[in-house]
Amino acid sequence: PDSQQGRLIKLHETTMRLYHHILMNTPAGESARRYLQKRGLTQELIDQFNLGYAPKEEVLKAVLEKEGHDYQLLRRSGLFTEDRSGSLHDRFHDRVMFPLKDGQGRPVAFSGRLLQKNTDAPKYLNSPETPIFNKRRLIFNFDLARKAARENGKLLLFEGYMDVISAYGAGVHNGIASMGTSLTDEQLAMIVKTTNQLNICYDGDAPGQNAIERALKLIEASAVASQLKIRVVQLPTGQDPDEYIQQNGGAKFRDYLKNTEETPTAFRLRYLRQGLNLSNQAELLSYLNAAIGVIAKVGDPVARDLYVQELAREFQVNPQNLQQQLTTQLQKQP
Ligand code: ATP
Ligand code: MN
Ligand code: MN
Ligand code: MN
Repeated sequence: PDSQQGRLIKLHETTMRLYHHILMNTPAGESARRYLQKRGLTQELIDQFNLGYAPKEEVLKAVLEKEGHDYQLLRRSGLFTEDRSGSLHDRFHDRVMFPLKDGQGRPVAFSGRLLQKNTDAPKYLNSPETPIFNKRRLIFNFDLARKAARENGKLLLFEGYMDVISAYGAGVHNGIASMGTSLTDEQLAMIVKTTNQLNICYDGDAPGQNAIERALKLIEASAVASQLKIRVVQLPTGQDPDEYIQQNGGAKFRDYLKNTEETPTAFRLRYLRQGLNLSNQAELLSYLNAAIGVIAKVGDPVARDLYVQELAREFQVNPQNLQQQLTTQLQKQP
């Protein structure tokens, strides 16, 4: 409580309340209120996630100093930048503020989003690393999601904070997000302690699809790979989960999650054929070859067999020839 960590958390709690107050109750917060309303966020969601607004002018230092937090603590909090004379200035200006909470739901950092497109500044600006904030170890919404995961048996990994929040509003409470970077081994260890199934639901654009493939590789190479069942949910092209929910509503989203989850192998087979013209024989042959390579990595021989049969049926080729190709591939593997 009186440790440096405890004091830093208290300082973040005060900051979270202040930004929330500015958003909800002041004229300065009006544009941000309208922005969130336009994005379909209800009051309930704004309160649940303690969203706030950092105004254009500096507000934080005065309030925190009045609470008795000393200069050194403010310096270490990550909430300020320091000029050459050593004076502190609010780091966040004119941004919607998303508190980043630890596994116990205590705010340890912030991410601030610009209200409008601006090519000179990053869309989301995060607190730097501090004694209480290590972005490799923070999972957005982990405090609430892990409670939900105890009930429905899985966590659902999104790309963005807004996806997690919209999903929450749609009754999907087990959503998490990493910090705008790929998943880390530290985050995976936290996930495995909570659940044995992780569903990946990234944005339905090319970067999102590539990020799924990267996440699969990373999970497969990690120490916890054998403890985690992975499923992939691919969204329609060009939509992220938040956009899907805004367009189709929560019930459709919940159905979509349930009905379109697929194994990593099924995802990879679809991913491989994107952009290929499979009525062209050369492209089909090279696709089949690559597909066999993917199937060869499946550990379960029965599952391998099923994938081969499916592939043969789909492209009307002799399953025995595919099977033979698979055997050759398997012999090449270490
Ligand atoms: P929004 O719907 O508010 O535009 P998003 O979550 O759809 O946000 P994406 O562009 O899909 O945004 O990025 C996914 C995640 O990556 C964000 O939630 C954020 O964590 C991170 N991110 C995006 N842009 C930046 C940036 N410029 N700097 C740091 N992190 C970023
Ligand atoms: Mn994206
Ligand atoms: Mn997105
Ligand atoms: Mn989005």
